[in-house]
Amino acid sequence: MTYDLIIIGAGAAGLMAAAEAGRLGLKTLVCEGQKTPARKLLICGGGRCNAANAHVTEKDFNAGCRHTLRHVLREWSTQDTLDFFTRWGAPLAVQKDGQYFSADDRAQTVLDALLKAVRAGGAALKCGAHVRGVRHAGTGFEVALAEDTLSAKAVLVTTGGLSYPTLGNDGAGFLIAEQFGHQLIPTRPALAPLIASDTSFKPLAGIATEVRLTLWAQGRKTITVEGPMLFTHRGFSGPAALEMSLAWSDAQPANGEVRTNFFPTLPGDDIAPILAGAGQRTLKNTIREHLPERLVDLLLERAGVEGAIRPGKEGLSKVERQALTKALRALPLPIREAGGYTKAEVTAGGVDLKSVKGSLLESRLQDGLFFAGEVLDVDGRIGGFNLQWAWASGVAAARGIAKRLL
Ligand SMILES: Cc1cc2nc3c(=O)[nH]c(=O)nc-3n(C[C@H](O)[C@H](O)[C@H](O)COP(=O)(O)OP(=O)(O)OC[C@H]3O[C@@H](n4cnc5c(N)ncnc54)[C@H](O)[C@@H]3O)c2cc1C
Repeated sequence: MTYDLIIIGAGAAGLMAAAEAGRLGLKTLVCEGQKTPARKLLICGGGRCNAANAHVTEKDFNAGCRHTLRHVLREWSTQDTLDFFTRWGAPLAVQKDGQYFSADDRAQTVLDALLKAVRAGGAALKCGAHVRGVRHAGTGFEVALAEDTLSAKAVLVTTGGLSYPTLGNDGAGFLIAEQFGHQLIPTRPALAPLIASDTSFKPLAGIATEVRLTLWAQGRKTITVEGPMLFTHRGFSGPAALEMSLAWSDAQPANGEVRTNFFPTLPGDDIAPILAGAGQRTLKNTIREHLPERLVDLLLERAGVEGAIRPGKEGLSKVERQALTKALRALPLPIREAGGYTKAEVTAGGVDLKSVKGSLLESRLQDGLFFAGEVLDVDGRIGGFNLQWAWASGVAAARGIAKRLL
């Protein structure tokens, strides 16, 4: 039997593509190497699945070709994602920050909805079917499994990246792309925790606080991210640290340094607005208004300034002000490295977007071969952007395949 379409990988992009391809009338099979589909989806958003974001723009992504990115994001909006999951029984609920999670806080509900949509469209799903290779044969393709070879008119590669290899991501899609002559943009772990180079912050493990992190490289500010940062036993995690990880790694040849402003909502970059309301209170109590006590103690120790001083009454010396300014508003984080693929939520780099036709996600080098999801050179910010890319590119590719075949 020859399928219209074989999809390699039943993750977020592959299942969404299968639902759309089936709906459009393509005879579709999804091959998944693991025993169960979409294992990564189940751990997304700490098991609550941050499946979308209210405000998705091109600026939320790194991508090698803006044209393709724009096209795909227009093909399938946040509203489309919300409508889709509501229709299939997994309504998403929005948080104050615009992130949409499964309304019942269960990623399983999102996966169940996807699988329901796949079944309704008539696509078949074969688990435990690791694809070993793809060959162009005649006017279509042969897809090799361990004990079987399948035929299809078109192939869609949705094998994901390299992060969390225990969940089935071994880079197989990159090999398939290379085999057909595609350029790969070098892959790097992204959205990974930052590992500390010393233990000085270890006593703060478990504390989370809002920060603004700024990366300095060659004496210049390069990027700034704002959000919660979590101190851990090994270093720094939470959205702000994760979002800084790729930029930090890329800046290492220039000795990049990440500086922390613990008062991101106060104006300026000195301590005047912090001390403005000090009145008769001690320095420690003034800062404690804003930050957890253990963090305040550590920052005062870093600055070498006594917490018992009453700045409103006794004032601070110039040296003390400078030291406090550095500790509270520009503290360099001791970072040894960013976590590798075992800890990274996504993979940056991948199949060069310029080697696929922007409107279809079809290879420019091999007719009938398509790519979607994280295997492509696109990575998003934390907050539901990566899944929105997976949904949108899955749909765009399915529609591209239908245009080619129907
Ligand atoms: C801990 C964690 C939390 C995350 N949380 C969020 C979040 O809340 N929101 C968000 O937007 N993003 C989140 N992400 C990122 C998100 O999970 C990915 O961007 C998304 O899953 C990518 O979808 P994909 O379909 O391209 O790849 P994947 O979901 O990785 O799916 C690829 C599938 O292909 C299969 N496969 C690979 N090779 C083969 C082969 N040779 N043969 C057959 N099958 C194969 C794999 O087993 C896998 O099932 C998180 C990631 C992690 C690791």
